[in-house]
Amino acid sequence: MKPELKKKRPLRFYLAIGFLTFSALLLIILWLFQTVFLESFYKTIKTEQVKSCAYGLETYLKYGETGKFYDLVTEIEEQNSMLVGVYDTTDSIFSCEYVSSSRPWIRSDVPMSTVYDLYRQATDNGGKVSTITAAEKESRFEMHSRRSFGATEDEARVDIIMHEHQPSLDRETVQILAYACIVPVTDGERLILVESEITPVNSVVETLRYQLIIMTAVILLFSVIIAVFLGKMIAKPISVTNEKAKALAKQDYDVSFEGGRYREITELNTTLNFAAGELKKVDSLQKELISNISHDLRTPLTMITGYAEVMQDLPGEMTPENLQIIIDEANRLNLLVTDLLDISRLQSNTADIKMAPFSLTKCIESIFSRYTKLIESDGLNIVFEHDREVFVMGDELRITQVIYNLINNAINYIGEDKTVIVRQTVTDEKVRIDVIDHGEGIPEEQLPYIWDRYYRAGEEHRRAKIGTGLGLSIVKNVLLAHDGEYGVSSALGEGSDFWFILPVIPTDEE
Ligand code: ADP
Repeated sequence: MKPELKKKRPLRFYLAIGFLTFSALLLIILWLFQTVFLESFYKTIKTEQVKSCAYGLETYLKYGETGKFYDLVTEIEEQNSMLVGVYDTTDSIFSCEYVSSSRPWIRSDVPMSTVYDLYRQATDNGGKVSTITAAEKESRFEMHSRRSFGATEDEARVDIIMHEHQPSLDRETVQILAYACIVPVTDGERLILVESEITPVNSVVETLRYQLIIMTAVILLFSVIIAVFLGKMIAKPISVTNEKAKALAKQDYDVSFEGGRYREITELNTTLNFAAGELKKVDSLQKELISNISHDLRTPLTMITGYAEVMQDLPGEMTPENLQIIIDEANRLNLLVTDLLDISRLQSNTADIKMAPFSLTKCIESIFSRYTKLIESDGLNIVFEHDREVFVMGDELRITQVIYNLINNAINYIGEDKTVIVRQTVTDEKVRIDVIDHGEGIPEEQLPYIWDRYYRAGEEHRRAKIGTGLGLSIVKNVLLAHDGEYGVSSALGEGSDFWFILPVIPTDEE
């Protein structure tokens, strides 16, 4: 393993860290809400409840009928287990109008000193006050509960005093939430008092704390287990693919990348399978290309050396014909090397394409003039069908090469009628050139490949008759560099129609 790879941690490490962080966050939130904030939440909610009850009472006291008011008090007491008191505070001596509690252990009266106290606080506070008291209220409530079990008030009080002085750890302080508000009414003023017991949450918090400790341990354990499991599930197919990719890098193109459990890895495998296929194709093409080129280079070289040696050994053989053969073969070599250079330049986009407007029609006509000798000697019938002159934008030399290659191919594969038709058709803003022969045609399954470098239809290497095997590849690359369209339609025994389309320059702009 490379040293920089060693420094990197495996996927399952990051997954475990992620899961643990997530669980820790979750647990922290749980701890905070269930232990630290529980009491204040509870108190806030209770206060709101008490306030809303008092508000309901206040509204009824102000606007409602008295009968209904008592119904409402009873309803509040029953539903919310609260103590409700209404005091007439119009005079300096307060009188209790109503006090009741639905909870049996809550004493149904409130000491008048407390009422005075609350009234004073409420007046200071703008008419409303809410207090939470502990010890004194606790005694009151406990005393009531003890009294309800048959003890006298004095007995209960003594009991409470003793109880309060007992050093107790788990005894919890009951708290009383009191809410008082002063309500002005038609015949004076009333004080509404709503009290509710605040159940101590310490024991609940303690229970929750134990639960949370257990939950923390369980959740952390599960996070690690799930992270390891997920890590394995995700990482394993990646490792398998990686091993195969290594084999591919070592030129084992037959390696196959199978499916995978999830979409990403399946896509990666499909891509790698495609890449492996392409690499295999490129590799075999490269091998084929080298063998074809070396074959094509060797044949003329053998001919040249052979003839030169014969002429050297036998002076009588120094004939113009033999010399011509050497010249022809040297030209062939030249042509082959030029074609190869052209193609590599075109494919690497380094070819110098000089775009300029030129007459495509004139260009074809001038190519035709090169064939006059051939037409005369071989009785070929080469026709150029056109009805007007068209101008295109492009590199005239390269386009000439395209047309020349197509016509050459058509002549090489010419049919018995010895006819080649070059047809120029102008449609919309485009010109289409067809080079048609009625020769042997190309089998349909080979049509996609003939544009490839060094592809030759047919098994045997027919160098004697045909060119370098690069002609159509040059055609394709030149047309691609001109953003042109190209194609072929061909049928076995009927001939072929090679065509290309280029945009026309409107004549009036010339
Ligand atoms: P070559 O130098 O072999 O002609 P090309 O690239 O020009 O190379 O053509 C590639 C192959 O396409 C040829 O070997 C031949 O099999 C096929 N081909 C091209 N033109 C024609 C045609 N007009 N008729 C039949 N086959 C053709």
